[in-house]
Amino acid sequence: MCIFCGFPAKGAMTAHILYILERFFEDDAAFSVPIGGTSQLGETLQRGLEKFGGKLQMNTHVNEILVEDGRAVGVRLKNGKVVKARKAVVSNATPFDTVKMMPQQEHEPKGLTKWRNDLGTLPRHGAISHLFLGIDATGLDLSNIDDPAQLVIQDWKKSMQDSQNLCSFFIPSLLDKSVCPEGKHVIHVYSSGGEPYEPWEKLKQGSPEYEAYKEERVEVLFKAVERCIPDIRDRLEFSIIGSPLAHEAFLRRDRGTYGMAWAAGSSAPQAGLLGKVLPFPFPNLKTPIDGLLRCGDSCFPGIGTPSAAASGAIAANTMTHVDNHIQLLREASKKDDMYKFLDPGILGEVYKPLVQGFTPSSELRSERFSRGAGVKPVDHNAAAEQSTVE
Ligand SMILES: Cc1cc2nc3c(=O)[nH]c(=O)nc-3n(C[C@H](O)[C@H](O)[C@H](O)COP(=O)(O)OP(=O)(O)OC[C@H]3O[C@@H](n4cnc5c(N)ncnc54)[C@H](O)[C@@H]3O)c2cc1C
Repeated sequence: MCIFCGFPAKGAMTAHILYILERFFEDDAAFSVPIGGTSQLGETLQRGLEKFGGKLQMNTHVNEILVEDGRAVGVRLKNGKVVKARKAVVSNATPFDTVKMMPQQEHEPKGLTKWRNDLGTLPRHGAISHLFLGIDATGLDLSNIDDPAQLVIQDWKKSMQDSQNLCSFFIPSLLDKSVCPEGKHVIHVYSSGGEPYEPWEKLKQGSPEYEAYKEERVEVLFKAVERCIPDIRDRLEFSIIGSPLAHEAFLRRDRGTYGMAWAAGSSAPQAGLLGKVLPFPFPNLKTPIDGLLRCGDSCFPGIGTPSAAASGAIAANTMTHVDNHIQLLREASKKDDMYKFLDPGILGEVYKPLVQGFTPSSELRSERFSRGAGVKPVDHNAAAEQSTVE
């Protein structure tokens, strides 16, 4: 079973398995948590974004991706405001949520209708149930737990995709005392991404039936933690259940899905040119709409944060000059010895003339950059200085 992609060994992509195994078996492999809590990840990304003049807007629900003459020109927000795109619109929502932002237009190209149907009906994993706990840790000896993250399988004979069989729990306060008051622990327990959504959608949130079903489905999550902390229920000071409906609402993933589920071995619909020569199990980041790109964990090598990060880099590379790719790799390789391998060296110079005509992708070149195949690189240092002055 490949935990990230949600498939058993058959169906998991080799690339996915390889990078997980490589990291797990490194000599100094260790579990890490962001000191100060998960919000630190977002705040770090925000700092990087703002350093280069970007702006993060919270509570900014996109209702529609605006298309004019076959080109994505911006987005319309839920509050009616329009945000115009200077170069491109990049959707980080799942494919299922992205196509909802593109209502069918009269006389639209057939390719667009097919793309919308293909992406909207891709197979998907089930949802996830969560249990968030705060416990009194007085006298609690957790020396029997050698890792703050545990995977619990109730019955090895049953499917690991069964949400009543496989679950994980994680005690971040074992590594970072700052995430809760002294003498307490916080625990996040969650099912596999195989929780069926159908029974949940029939229930009304807040109704007695809904509350009872929540209790019933997370009983297995409590039992998993009891294997390590037998008196967990006596120690409870706080507990909240996150149902698939809550998962859907907070993470804004259609039907609370863990993610897209195209098994390795054949090409997914809309896989692009690569999919014609290799069994590439992801739809292309590019779309039939010029200037509309996708990124996120439905892209290579999904699911998980590595694919979210890698696909973001691919989308960014698609939009910018190859000189910027090479410059960024060189800068990163100098930051720490462990990144030395990123230095493209002489290969960078060989690679540049080969791809110069394709980066940025031709449909993404605005008038400003339109002259010649060689498109102007961005001066990162100037961009950083400018954002500091502002
Ligand atoms: C319980 C759990 C445990 C996990 N554990 C791991 C792990 O240990 N390691 C790992 O690598 N991965 C793990 N994953 C998977 C990983 O979290 C995801 O694959 C990753 O976060 C997906 O990132 P993303 O950017 O593609 O999508 P998301 O994080 O889903 O981001 C999409 C964003 O788009 C926003 N959005 C959606 N629709 C709109 C709209 N209309 N307008 C504006 N914004 C919108 C959403 O609000 C959201 O912020 C786990 C997932 C879960 C649920």
